[in-house]
Amino acid sequence: MSRGVLFVMSGPSGTGKGTICNELLANENNDVFLSVSSTTREKRKGETDGVTYNYTTVENFKKMIDNGEMLEYAMYSGNYYGTPKAYVQEQLAQGNDVILEIEIQGAMQVKKKFDTGVFIFLVPPSMEELYSRLTGRGRESMELIRERFLKAAEEMKCVNDYGYVVVNDTVQEAV
Ligand code: 5GP
Repeated sequence: MSRGVLFVMSGPSGTGKGTICNELLANENNDVFLSVSSTTREKRKGETDGVTYNYTTVENFKKMIDNGEMLEYAMYSGNYYGTPKAYVQEQLAQGNDVILEIEIQGAMQVKKKFDTGVFIFLVPPSMEELYSRLTGRGRESMELIRERFLKAAEEMKCVNDYGYVVVNDTVQEAV
């Protein structure tokens, strides 16, 4: 049996990574599995523990790092995020494709370990559009939006570290 393909998708906050992933998973023709990350950030409204993320404490997260359970991890906006190794390894070994929806520092760690992975950078059609998407979703304070927007502008510089760039103009086309 051949091993599955590892897809890694990154892109600035507000670009629509979550929407694209959900669409990919909703299509039964796509035989692909999403890795559920662990995080120390607070659960947001509408999110489900074990589905959106596995929410955990900083102490437990550090323990997982020390035990070598993380494929990659990063500190992002003051919280830890990481991909548990076991699930990804199991799926790939069974021949299933896996998607990681992770930020850049983590993606670069994965790149060192999986040179056969497919690394995709999702970008907004323009920075103006990104700004209106960040403010439009109305879930963060203006201070946090400002922080995320500045970070997004910085993150756009990493586009060349990825094998593929996808512009999220319309969701359908990006998917
Ligand atoms: P959010 O807090 O908006 O859900 O996610 C913040 C950032 O963390 C996003 O860019 C998201 O892609 C990234 N992220 C989510 N899970 C992981 C993970 O397991 N590892 C890394 N490195 N980043 C992650």
